[in-house]
Amino acid sequence: GTDIILMRNAGLRLDLDYLDTTGAEGVGLFRTEFQFLVSDTLPRVDEQIALYERVIASAAGRPVLFRTVDLGGDKVLPNLNRQREENPALGWRSIRFALDSQGLFRRQLRALIRAARGGPLALMFPMVTTPDEFIDARALLMKEIEWSESQGFAPPSDLSVGVMLEAPALAYSLDEIAEGADFVSIGTNDLMQFFFAADRMSPQVSTRYDLISRPAIRFLRYVSETCDGLDLPVSICGEATAEPLEALCLITLGFRRLSMPAGGIGPVKKMVRSVNLEAFKTAFFDRFQTSNGSFRNEVLALARDHGVELNES
Ligand code: PEP
Ligand code: MG
Repeated sequence: GTDIILMRNAGLRLDLDYLDTTGAEGVGLFRTEFQFLVSDTLPRVDEQIALYERVIASAAGRPVLFRTVDLGGDKVLPNLNRQREENPALGWRSIRFALDSQGLFRRQLRALIRAARGGPLALMFPMVTTPDEFIDARALLMKEIEWSESQGFAPPSDLSVGVMLEAPALAYSLDEIAEGADFVSIGTNDLMQFFFAADRMSPQVSTRYDLISRPAIRFLRYVSETCDGLDLPVSICGEATAEPLEALCLITLGFRRLSMPAGGIGPVKKMVRSVNLEAFKTAFFDRFQTSNGSFRNEVLALARDHGVELNES
């Protein structure tokens, strides 16, 4: 009786060829920076428009959520992100870089507005840390919509503007962005790297800390409850959503919209269909109060007791 919406992550147009096969309800994260990363020169506005139009057309009426350029960090454009940084993941990247590169950013916003052709447009800004960054990015978007209108282009019929929660600090400013933001999307890849101070690119430490652990679950529960209290829709993207056990924890915490790599949709859908969420939730929080061992092992045992299908080999 609980609707769980499963979407897929994408970044290239050819990802969309298999939307039907995956069983996804739409694209919950389209990584627009891929077009920049695979090209030798900066993609022109008309090239960006062409890609976004093709993506919208391939989705055939299903929702597509565009994430504005997330450059810097592990996604470096040699000609743009020139200066060497000691800690690029913590450096001049994502929305920080976009707000400082207004020509590039505004051209992208223009391309997204044009590609929507007066239809719905959903977009979100990556790695926002403070409310100001969101307010500034949104103001640029509104300016671009106004400018496009003055040039005779129809504004989006339905505009949805969200913020990616990837820096833990933003979790404590949600009340300040709730008025201007239509939704929040949690990027667990970056969020967990910052939460545990563990570089997602380092093979030595990237798997050392666990999302299914008491501190991370407590943090995500806080975000889920805070968003609910503010009537702010919240979704989750990031690789963790594709793992049935992780996805089970996320829906138990109240998240209802997950976006994941395509291969996760089938196994996660199977898990969702096999779980009695109310019964599992009671047992989960019971265990959460009393546990002091490996919470992952406890959740795994609980899931097996409850007959949850986890795609285990
Ligand atoms: C994330 O950080 O979880 C995310 C979805 O963005 P990316 O992996 O592209 O940084
Ligand atoms: Mg990220």
